[in-house]
Amino acid sequence: MPAVTRTGQTVMLLLEVEKSMTSTNRQQWITHDLERTTGKDAQQANINAAKAVATALRSTLGPSGRDKMLVGSNGTVIVTNDGASILNRMDIDDPVARIIAQAANTQNESIGDGVTTTVLLVGELLSQAEELLREGLHPTVILQGYYKACSHTLQRLGEYCIDFTPGDDELLQAVAKTAVTGRWDTEATERFSTLATNAVRIAGGGSSRSQSSPITVKAFPGGELHDSELIEGILVDMNTSSTTVEMFDTQHSSILTDARIALVNAKIGVERPDNVDRITIDDPEKLNSIHARESEIENEPVRVLSGLGVDILFCQKSIDDAIRTKLAKENILAIERTRQDEFDVLVRATGATAVESISALKQSNLGRAGSIEQRSVGSTPLLIITDLSRNKQASLLLRGGTKHVAEEIKRIIKNCTAVVRCVLWDGGVLPGGGATETALSTDLREHANTIDDREQLAIKAFANSIEIVPRTLINNAGRDLLDTFPKLRSKNVDDPMIGLDSLTGELQNMLEVDVLESAVVKRHSLTTALETTAMILRIDDILQHTGTDSNEFPASDGWKPQSHIEQSNSGYPWAVGH
Ligand code: ADP
Ligand code: MG
Repeated sequence: MPAVTRTGQTVMLLLEVEKSMTSTNRQQWITHDLERTTGKDAQQANINAAKAVATALRSTLGPSGRDKMLVGSNGTVIVTNDGASILNRMDIDDPVARIIAQAANTQNESIGDGVTTTVLLVGELLSQAEELLREGLHPTVILQGYYKACSHTLQRLGEYCIDFTPGDDELLQAVAKTAVTGRWDTEATERFSTLATNAVRIAGGGSSRSQSSPITVKAFPGGELHDSELIEGILVDMNTSSTTVEMFDTQHSSILTDARIALVNAKIGVERPDNVDRITIDDPEKLNSIHARESEIENEPVRVLSGLGVDILFCQKSIDDAIRTKLAKENILAIERTRQDEFDVLVRATGATAVESISALKQSNLGRAGSIEQRSVGSTPLLIITDLSRNKQASLLLRGGTKHVAEEIKRIIKNCTAVVRCVLWDGGVLPGGGATETALSTDLREHANTIDDREQLAIKAFANSIEIVPRTLINNAGRDLLDTFPKLRSKNVDDPMIGLDSLTGELQNMLEVDVLESAVVKRHSLTTALETTAMILRIDDILQHTGTDSNEFPASDGWKPQSHIEQSNSGYPWAVGH
């Protein structure tokens, strides 16, 4: 058997030992170090855990969803309704809940939206599976049905897409607005969706689905929401980038024009031997020559940089104070300890090439910027580099009253840019407010009737599961589910654009009220939810280490999402026998 996971390996080791033991011994060995749950009990425990995670997030879905206040053990407070933030910060003990949290994290990192939906879908798919298991269906049959249903749904999804032309900024803004509705008043929603759309446009749109394309988002506490701005260039936060900075001639102007930029990867300064406290010098001549050499080393960067006409130097490591002062006298701004991400942005946007030492610097390595402005936002000094030679960088400078508000705005705006990017990348726009899910569910139920074996039941269960989205939106909007949902279903049959507008509580055409979503997000939510469900449903044996022997399962592993649930192609964590 191949190695599966850290957990899996231990499990397999156990099985090897089991073979060589009598059954009584074996039982003792198992119960001594491991708590074992098998068969239906394991299945039920896992389903319960998944339902519990989904229930925890249910009330946060949609614009009428409520926030959660997360209080850390050190007293930090975070108020959010973002599924990924909530799961990241929850102290999750249960292994199945961790699997779901990891799936949510993947959805968030790769797509940037749809996390709550994914978790609700997992909870509902397992909840529906629970019924089917009770009726005697085998998990494999359920999963076969689920996979068929999902593939049918994904095929049909495209048919509900709204026509989108890549230049249609109004539609993009509607998608962006749907991602932020309910957070602020209409004016702020409008403003932020415009900022996000323009930022994505400046950054080159959806040339790739990757969320790491050139948009820097920085939020600063203090100031008003409407003080937030979009910068067509680079934003360098000097507090995180550098220690004290010798700024360029502030008396005359805080803006430097037509600047040449140098990027250096290595420490700039006099190398001093490590682990040597004191050097004894018996000859004054030697001392003089050491001083002369030091001063030569200190003058070298000034000579090279002023010779090349450099205005600003970004160094990834430290720069000796004496050198920075000498550079400042020559009006060269030297910024040390530039963060790696900012360094990467500078390379990409200014056309500069990073060199390994000052002496290797050539004219062709320099980057250009039309303007570098020195500005303070609150107590934070910033450099704003615009008019770039490669104008593909956007930065969002966000303001919020308090640190919590600023952080939440940052999260929401990232969400907003992510969905705009998804639409530009793939072109798929779908009606929101549960319209798409209702239509897909109706469609799937009809399709299920054409299947004449027991998989039909699983396909219908999949159809029921998708309805968790409109159902939850109706609940969270404070509407009566028994009254509203049947109405939605029947109206949606005639017009698949009909969904719930959570803000008015009315069933409406989603295109008319601008509640639109990216098809990529929906597709990804469905597939991630199904994969996670399948992984959980296949488990029929849970072996949980209870001992303290560090060669076995570690007692505490400081779990963080993505940190340690690993799955090889050949097995499942915590699963034996597949
Ligand atoms: P997720 O983490 O899944 O993105 P959200 O809390 O962002 O969760 O909610 C997304 C859901 O809210 C989507 O189904 C979307 O269609 C719905 N939604 C967004 N705006 C509205 C609105 N104005 N009316 C009804 N539903 C909306
Ligand atoms: Mg969302």
